[in-house]
Amino acid sequence: MIVFKFGGASVKNTEALKNAVNITKTFEGPLVIVVSAMGKTTNSLEELWAAYLIKDVKGVEHTLDKLYKFHAGLIADIGNETQRCNDVFSESFNELKRQLTKEPSEHKAFEYDQIVSFGELWATLIFSEALKISNVNCRWIDARKTIRTSNHYQNARVDWLKTKALVNDRIITRFKQNSSLACIVTQGFIGHTNTGMTTTLGREGSDFSAAILAWALEAKEVFIWKDVPGLLNADPKEFDGPLKIDKISYKEAIELSYFGASVIHPKTLKPLQNKNIPLRIKSFIDPESSGTIIQSDESSDANQPSYIYNKNQLLISISPKDFSFIMEDHISEIFNLFSKNGLKVHLMQNSALNFSVCANMKKAMLKNLIEELSENFNVKYNENVDLLTIRQYENHVFPEKLKKKNILIKQRTRSTLRYVLN
Ligand code: ASP
Ligand code: MG
Repeated sequence: MIVFKFGGASVKNTEALKNAVNITKTFEGPLVIVVSAMGKTTNSLEELWAAYLIKDVKGVEHTLDKLYKFHAGLIADIGNETQRCNDVFSESFNELKRQLTKEPSEHKAFEYDQIVSFGELWATLIFSEALKISNVNCRWIDARKTIRTSNHYQNARVDWLKTKALVNDRIITRFKQNSSLACIVTQGFIGHTNTGMTTTLGREGSDFSAAILAWALEAKEVFIWKDVPGLLNADPKEFDGPLKIDKISYKEAIELSYFGASVIHPKTLKPLQNKNIPLRIKSFIDPESSGTIIQSDESSDANQPSYIYNKNQLLISISPKDFSFIMEDHISEIFNLFSKNGLKVHLMQNSALNFSVCANMKKAMLKNLIEELSENFNVKYNENVDLLTIRQYENHVFPEKLKKKNILIKQRTRSTLRYVLN
């Protein structure tokens, strides 16, 4: 069994949909295909939710109209056998409309999940129709009956064992009963509670859905189809000529994402690592190219450096007012205040009299944090420093565009070199 994930960009218009169908057809199956909402649909559904909560009737109508036209347009475009798809879509759309005529409850996160989940339902409906038109034997499956979660709306936690049993009943059994079935199409991002209410797993949660299903299916591999050639060793928006990483371990990928690289979320990697299921990141624009494989072997991890660049960081230096040494009790007091004020530490450095952190936090909380720290400490801070992390730095080249900056802190471990710059 192989699991695919097609994200919003890979199914954003008719051409993209056809391309995704063609990719699917080059695989023998059995395939389980996870699809997320098409194009920017989730953003529009979030607008719809916001308008609904403040009873902005015009806003609700406007966004609904936009969503209807976009999806109905795609259905009309993909072929002429789509009456069935049209009917199911209209019915689903009307169900959303009916929900929106009700008075919104106080529970905003609950309302969010009931509304925003429609994007994935429509995307999978349309994608499975496109597959059927291309003579692929596929079935549409409702993730609201397969992925079991807690009732933490907007950020639901997975009930792994229950999900495994449901996946067995609803996916594995189907393939067993029907040997000509090539693929099952289902939604990313959404699940259900034990009372059948719809939940979501958090923005960008479809990769995670693919990993959950792969874990439950004991899949052979997972493919995530993207608009980039694979994982890159630097952000192309910041640096020229980033290189593709061909092969990387789960462990190293988790480290990179910890240091702030927008690779695959650790939440997605963990279940795959547990069952040793390789994850391939491939380009849907150039599906023949090799992409990146994330797997357990660590032997290639040090092949090339990766550059992670975090801008607009906060650098805080703290020293006790009474000139005492920085000791455990100070540090615990400082960290209590950090956690209370939502500060996320990226790097720490201390000496006898001084403790510095490079960190991230919401601007609105900064004043409060500085006030609270200032009761017992002298505090200096700088709001606009950069943090450059170079992982596997052995053959690194210091980025040209950062050479003119001042180095405020430099830290080196065996695998990581870090600079705080301004
Ligand atoms: N459609 C959802 C989002 O945009 C989930 C996903 O794309 O992974 O956040
Ligand atoms: Mg999306």
